[in-house]
Amino acid sequence: MTGERYQVVVVGGGMAGTVAALTAARLGARTLLVERSAELGGVASRAWVTPWQSFHSPRGRVVGGIPQLIVERLVEMGACLGHVPDPIGFAPSLTPVEPRAVAPLLVELAREAGVELSLETSLTGVEVEEGRVAGLTLARGGEESQVRAGAVVDATGSALVARMAGLPTELSEERQPASLLFRMSGVDGGEIIAYMEENPEEFVLNPDRRVLRLGYLAVSGFFSLVREARERGELRLLNRDRVLFFGLPSGDEVIVNTTRLEPPPTDDPSSPHYQRYYREGVEQVRELAGWMVRRLPGFARAEMTGLAQELGIRESFRLVGAYLLSAEDVLSGRHFADSVALGSFPIDIHRQDAGLESYPIGGEGDYGIPLGCLHHPTVANLYVAGKGASFSHRAFASARTIPTAMSLGQAAGILAFLASEGMAAGSPGLGESFGELARGLGHIHRPEQIVRDQLTRNFLSAD
Ligand SMILES: Cc1cc2nc3c(=O)[nH]c(=O)nc-3n(C[C@H](O)[C@H](O)[C@H](O)COP(=O)(O)OP(=O)(O)OC[C@H]3O[C@@H](n4cnc5c(N)ncnc54)[C@H](O)[C@@H]3O)c2cc1C
Repeated sequence: MTGERYQVVVVGGGMAGTVAALTAARLGARTLLVERSAELGGVASRAWVTPWQSFHSPRGRVVGGIPQLIVERLVEMGACLGHVPDPIGFAPSLTPVEPRAVAPLLVELAREAGVELSLETSLTGVEVEEGRVAGLTLARGGEESQVRAGAVVDATGSALVARMAGLPTELSEERQPASLLFRMSGVDGGEIIAYMEENPEEFVLNPDRRVLRLGYLAVSGFFSLVREARERGELRLLNRDRVLFFGLPSGDEVIVNTTRLEPPPTDDPSSPHYQRYYREGVEQVRELAGWMVRRLPGFARAEMTGLAQELGIRESFRLVGAYLLSAEDVLSGRHFADSVALGSFPIDIHRQDAGLESYPIGGEGDYGIPLGCLHHPTVANLYVAGKGASFSHRAFASARTIPTAMSLGQAAGILAFLASEGMAAGSPGLGESFGELARGLGHIHRPEQIVRDQLTRNFLSAD
């Protein structure tokens, strides 16, 4: 294959892929990051998914290095509140982020690290030679070109490189629904919190009610109001038992994560199929936002001030790799000798009917994700990071979140760097070399590396 040669090519510039590219470039690899859209950040920037949850297990921070640096830079920009206690009590912390700030920061970080960026560029082909990805075909503005790669990270969110390379993948029949997120401004958080304190049975709440008084909004409930509205036919389109919304650092704005759509057959926003689902989402948003203003405490002076530009598609194709992480691994808090990242979010399944299913992590409240979840033995220089890695449907419902996706990206960036230097999966000494580079970057992949840090001081001082 001809074309420009890179040590590492990362396909997909979501949170997993961007962190993978930053990692490989920081380690010194000539790195290309290829992204289909005009922006980095994926679901976290274009579908407005926030808060990021969770950087912590009950025993401390389980994600470090570049993901933590991204949080610190967002805090400096005033676009993130840092790690705060979760008022819903679902996980030990959540990290509220202004999604509009994510893409510009990632481009700045890519420039600082020397990552070569190819935006508005789609992967269209993969060439495998002698058990290695030798090159990729990319399309930009109707023109195709080839690049050669020492190692490749598949961070497409749908294991697309793996599929094109002929590796086994799966698409669960029980795929979680998609959602179209939107922004409400002019929200009176004080009124909402007062209502929650008076009607705690209407919400899922952290047993430590002091967290509510910290003033950060994370709301899962208004159960009776939603039920009555559905009975009266005011919410005809919405198949939910609650509203779910989260405060933004600006103070009087929230992102509403409540709509539910059948997952579209494609994740490509330019496809006409995709557009039909997006339009359906817009109808749900129109109905729901109007109802919230009319009926929900705290929303009387609020208005809907924006729609995410892309649908939030929770679940797509995943690699069936050398190891398939199971729900049992997650629920028992299992750790592996070759873990490359840690997860800590409970299993959280948005069902196609109105409900949510969730299960806490056992053991110490965190689990390891082994190397085998990122690769398949037949293609030595390809690693899959983020939501396309090798998880069962139920394990995915924990490992899918943004902090874990970034941590997996960091692990894949280290592994791809090593593969480009001749140390692919299966090479003797890979574990030691991975561990050494991980330590240098502050990457956390073993329980003894968990950082016992404090949640954001401002929030704790309200005690
Ligand atoms: C509705 C919804 C709510 C969620 N809620 C939360 C939450 O509250 N907290 C939390 O932490 N997590 C949440 N998640 C999960 C989390 O947001 C995602 O799982 C995570 O962001 C996945 O990151 P990723 O980088 O693996 O994938 P993505 O963000 O999907 O990135 C994949 C990237 O690959 C690009 N790409 C795809 N195909 C190609 C191609 N052919 N060529 C080039 N580029 C390509 C895409 O454009 C995209 O930018 C939610 C997800 C959804 C959808």
